[in-house]
Amino acid sequence: MKVATNDKRNGDTALMGQKYCGKCDTVKPIDDFGKSQNRKNGIQDYCKPCLNAYHRSRRVRKGTEGENKTADMKAYQAEYRKKWLVDHPDYYKEYRAKRRDHLNAIKRAWVAKKRNKI
Ligand SMILES: [Zn+2]
Repeated sequence: MKVATNDKRNGDTALMGQKYCGKCDTVKPIDDFGKSQNRKNGIQDYCKPCLNAYHRSRRVRKGTEGENKTADMKAYQAEYRKKWLVDHPDYYKEYRAKRRDHLNAIKRAWVAKKRNKI
């Protein structure tokens, strides 16, 4: 019995248009397996239903991990920002100065426009 299992796992069945899926422990037609560029034989190790279930479970896990990561990231970014502002104390001063110039330019343009009308 062991030999038969090994034959299945070695992919001999692939030659007959069938392949063994280690997830559901079933020999299925090649059509039930997706293509894979990462595999030597160009076929996924697991059948499509198994891979779909696998990816779905991964997505769910990733989703919750992602949420935790977002919270962690926010805390990290807030911390980083504080440190960054200590290292770049003039950044906002310069930013405000630039913005003031910009706003003044708009104001001047507006005043000039109004003056031309009168
Ligand atoms: Zn399967």
